[in-house]
Amino acid sequence: MNIEQKINQLRDELRQHNYNYYVLDSPTITDYEFDILLKELQELEANHPEFHDANSPTLRVGGEITKNFQTIVHEHRMYSLDNSYSKEDLLDWETRIKKLVDGDIQYICELKYDGASISLTYENGSLLRAVTRGDGFQGDDVTANVKTIKSVPLKLKGDYPPKFDIRGEIVLPWEGFNKMNEERVEIGEEPYRNPRNTASGSLKLQDSAEVAKRPLLCLLYNLAGNKLPVETQLSSLEKAREWGFRVPTEAKLSNSIEEVLDYINYWDVHRHDLPYETDGVVIKVNNLHYQEELGYTAKAPRWAMAYKFKAEQVSTKLNSISYQVGRTGAITPVANLEPVELAGTTVKRASLHNADQIEKLDIRVGDQVYVEKGGEIIPKIIAVDLNKRPANSEPTKYITQCPECETGLVRKEGEAQHYCPNYNGCQPQIIGRIQHFISRKAMDIEGLGGETVALLVNEGLIHNYSDLYELTKEQVIPLERMAEKSADNLIKGINLSKQIPFERVLYALGIRYVGETVAKKLVKHYKSIDVLALATEDDLVNVDEIGEKIAESVLEFFSSEQNRIIIERLRNFGVQLEISAEKLANQTEKLKGSTFVVSGVFETISRNELKKLIEDNGGKVASSISSKTSYIVAGENMGPSKRAKATTLNIPIISEQEFLKMIS
Ligand code: AMP
Ligand code: ZN
Repeated sequence: MNIEQKINQLRDELRQHNYNYYVLDSPTITDYEFDILLKELQELEANHPEFHDANSPTLRVGGEITKNFQTIVHEHRMYSLDNSYSKEDLLDWETRIKKLVDGDIQYICELKYDGASISLTYENGSLLRAVTRGDGFQGDDVTANVKTIKSVPLKLKGDYPPKFDIRGEIVLPWEGFNKMNEERVEIGEEPYRNPRNTASGSLKLQDSAEVAKRPLLCLLYNLAGNKLPVETQLSSLEKAREWGFRVPTEAKLSNSIEEVLDYINYWDVHRHDLPYETDGVVIKVNNLHYQEELGYTAKAPRWAMAYKFKAEQVSTKLNSISYQVGRTGAITPVANLEPVELAGTTVKRASLHNADQIEKLDIRVGDQVYVEKGGEIIPKIIAVDLNKRPANSEPTKYITQCPECETGLVRKEGEAQHYCPNYNGCQPQIIGRIQHFISRKAMDIEGLGGETVALLVNEGLIHNYSDLYELTKEQVIPLERMAEKSADNLIKGINLSKQIPFERVLYALGIRYVGETVAKKLVKHYKSIDVLALATEDDLVNVDEIGEKIAESVLEFFSSEQNRIIIERLRNFGVQLEISAEKLANQTEKLKGSTFVVSGVFETISRNELKKLIEDNGGKVASSISSKTSYIVAGENMGPSKRAKATTLNIPIISEQEFLKMIS
């Protein structure tokens, strides 16, 4: 077998395993075995760029950056759906249909998946494009991001038509959603409200590698195209499944509106057992010829109807409103309710989100309120029962002072949340910030937990994270649940954290919006905290992926005298505030402004080492040749098509030795 055949064989094999895992939900090999095959393919592809394939399974990990999403006109318009809420609505719909078509009508019931709608275009069995619904006429090209979703087949199987669109929904199953939220809370961000918004937000991320990390799922339910080889909606679902799409199995044929209602009633209860969210049922006329006869209104097909489930609701009394202060100082109002049963759990609290929400609902202590558990994990209050409002009721006055430290609250222009600005003196902020500092992804201090941090602060032993490094064993031993041994471990853990590299230290500082990835980007660019502290807003926004919001937050952090003192203290204790000398020694700006494409096999270094050298010296590595390429570093076996392209575009091809000379 030659290299090309081997590559193709691996691609086919990996595709089948992806399909088994993500579409059929029944893998036949272990994750480990999968990774080995994937690595083998990655290596071959890296050494043989001439066999590049835009739909290779290795591209699932993403990496492509989209700054501006291109607008694409849908070849077949993406309609919305009419809504119904009762049996009468459905019977009315049936009457309207029966006036327009002759014959027996069968319906197909599907679940209405709550996510972001997507249209995928396939040509000759390959994914060509993925476009959001937009306004129905045109949407955004989000192909690079959608390619990272493993349940979207990049290549089809079987007797697919040469060209067609398939529509579906990109959803974020509960399990993955909850996990993402745990991580959000860790970096001091507000948790995402619901899976639907998070799914559609994910499609518009600029870095597809970020999208690849999100456990999104693509469920498909409609074909669109000319002369498709199907006669009914049911058979088109079956066909799509054969071609490799993840088509939900809940769809069911019904012969009457009565049967449709059985389906609705069944799923109204059982939807809570599904791994993802659904907010209703979509009923479609099964026969596609009838569908054609029925056609469309200005906004929706006449042959389909959505039925919305009623969100579960109860009424209960609002006993009080309390206010929580987060690590970043954000204030969240919380409704304390008379405990009540809702969708299988006892609800005692509901989020009120912010001052605007309270004002909008005109919600007051003592009110009887309606609580709903909809798409959100935390129940919310949707309305007040004004008939039951006590006569002496007074409008809610939002707090103006921090409930913990009594500092006057501030609210920045354009932000919904109030903040306590007492950054250095507000207990929950201090504790939260130190807890973040010691957390696993930050300084990872073993032997010290969140509760001990709270104790240390409450006892007045520490006031900020730099104080940790001055703690002594003698100070710690008298604390609750501490003993000689645990005190030793704690001090040891703190000392060890002095070796944590700068990028994690920067993350640990807890600057708002500076998560792990941003910290890495900043460190790569600025290399030391002193240089970063001097950066202006213009400087900062010029760094890859750093926007205004992050830039302002960084500036604010360093403009604080207190923060500068804390950083000085960290420096004196030996915490890493710049990239290590070794790393730095290998970095130059010699290749700044140049973009390289690496091709072929090299004698003295591996391809990965070569790429690292380019980046360490300030150059950029691209995967394909374009007019923006400055040089091609060619080893042995550079592909003929690449060579031809380089010649046409007049791009210099240099050898390994010539490259090494450039940076020596
Ligand atoms: P709406 O956004 O309320 O007008 O509802 C229409 C949207 O429902 C469509 O654009 C689809 O994105 C979505 N949808 C979810 N599940 C289905 C399904 N099984 N069939 C058709 N549309 C669906
Ligand atoms: Zn405060």
